[in-house]
Amino acid sequence: MSILTIGTVAFDAIETPFGKTDKIIGGAATYISLSASYFVSNSAIVSVVGGDFPQEAIQDMRNRGINTDGLEIRQNEKSFFWSGKYHNDLNSRDTLVTELNVLADFKPVVPASARKTPFLMLGNLTPDIQREVIHQMEERPKLIVMDTMNFWMDIAMDSLKETLKLVDVLTINDEEARQLSGEYSLVKAARAILQMGPKFLIIKKGEHGALLFHGKEIFFAPALPLEEVFDPTGAGDTFAGGFIGYLAKTKDISFQNMKNAIIYGSAMASFCVEKFGTERLLNLSRSEVVDRARQFIQLVDTDLKLELQD
Ligand code: AMP
Repeated sequence: MSILTIGTVAFDAIETPFGKTDKIIGGAATYISLSASYFVSNSAIVSVVGGDFPQEAIQDMRNRGINTDGLEIRQNEKSFFWSGKYHNDLNSRDTLVTELNVLADFKPVVPASARKTPFLMLGNLTPDIQREVIHQMEERPKLIVMDTMNFWMDIAMDSLKETLKLVDVLTINDEEARQLSGEYSLVKAARAILQMGPKFLIIKKGEHGALLFHGKEIFFAPALPLEEVFDPTGAGDTFAGGFIGYLAKTKDISFQNMKNAIIYGSAMASFCVEKFGTERLLNLSRSEVVDRARQFIQLVDTDLKLELQD
């Protein structure tokens, strides 16, 4: 196994200015693992769903080489459900409903075959569960990447800070970085968050790209200006899946290589938002992924001569 992902596998109901869905397949672990599957063919997930979760959706993951032995199915219970409504600019959204259901008392069990996995992706989930999974690993993974969101900052900040001490990379959005650090300036926020545990911090800014912080270094990658954006749900998770997927494939966790990983993560996220839910992530070709990453490089390719002339 090269990547182990934990996170929600869920039902979502989404409303954007372009339409509305009933319950569709979502969840942080779903987006992450589908996205990472374009880079590695041997990943696994640990999560929980209820008996209401369709078998076909699990099969879609298996078809992409994702091992689902760690996906517990509780026949008599309901899956995690989240509903959100996006504002007109699509960069911000309101959570309408969060029903924890099976997640409320979930006790994750990492299958024996995944306990030495070198890349651990802690997708959005209760910070206690994220920590529990780290403790179940037989060897400290080479890289632990953690995602989280304001929901957990509101109700479980202390636990979240405990988990932060144990991870290498944190990915959050700009608002969450401000909430976590209490700082408005993202540079100051990053400095404060890098004191909390992670050595690398990625701040996602939706359609405005992503920033990577490490020590005093900062790298910025834009988001691709797209003609059609239907549904930003899962973009952050898809980004994380592409990011860790690329690192696991190349086995190089240097700051320099993380810049490439951010470009691939951004490329994957740009596919995700083109359709509702996970649809776009099920059938991409390798050349589509590589072409999209090239478009990113072209976007920032510059031949400018910046010397000031007299
Ligand atoms: P993103 O748009 O990248 O933030 O991810 C959206 C996904 O996160 C949706 O598919 C939801 O099912 C899932 N999600 C929403 N709220 C939570 C939460 N509190 N904990 C874990 N996953 C969540």
